Amino acid sequence: MEQLKIEKTTLQIVQGDITKQNDIEAIVNAANAYLRIGGGVAGAIHRAAGPELENESTKLGPIDPGEAVITGAYNLPNKYVIHCLGPVYERDIPHDKLLANCYKNAIDICEEKNIESIAFPAISTGAFGYPVEDAAEVALKEIVEKMKILKSLKTIRMVLFSNQDLEVHKETLKRVAKQ
Ligand code: ADP
Repeated sequence: MEQLKIEKTTLQIVQGDITKQNDIEAIVNAANAYLRIGGGVAGAIHRAAGPELENESTKLGPIDPGEAVITGAYNLPNKYVIHCLGPVYERDIPHDKLLANCYKNAIDICEEKNIESIAFPAISTGAFGYPVEDAAEVALKEIVEKMKILKSLKTIRMVLFSNQDLEVHKETLKRVAKQ
């Protein structure tokens, strides 16, 4: 595991499944605009949470790229799911700003609700086609900037599904941490 501590918050980069983060208060869903089940991360989260999650989440949609909303987590081991709509690469522009907004808005919700731990998947890097190297740079820069001014969040975890994505994020963090 790659770790970086800034002020009172630790950023962790791990390989794993976002639905199995038992020690984390809020997990982030790479949602679709209507906050329906969908595929990829969203499918895995909704299947693990059970149908009540979709009942609650669809009432909050549609949302715009970069936006984040919060629901309960039902049968997941977490307390909350924060649903973010990532940008579709080269369609929702500027894609870097919209992707950064996902991380910013999810972290802001945690601070408002006194949430101490959050886990993110690599938003937009699946069906939405964002190249993982570029997405990692945007995500980690935004997270590291926010870490300088946090009050409630103590743990921020990036959960990468594949070993290749894990390695990209580890390398990117080394660079971002030096800037
Ligand atoms: P988007 O539509 O925002 O691109 P996807 O769900 O298609 O979202 O994919 C986002 C990233 O999440 C991809 O890199 C994908 O490999 C990864 N992923 C898929 N399932 C899981 C999971 N269960 N836990 C963590 N990451 C996952």
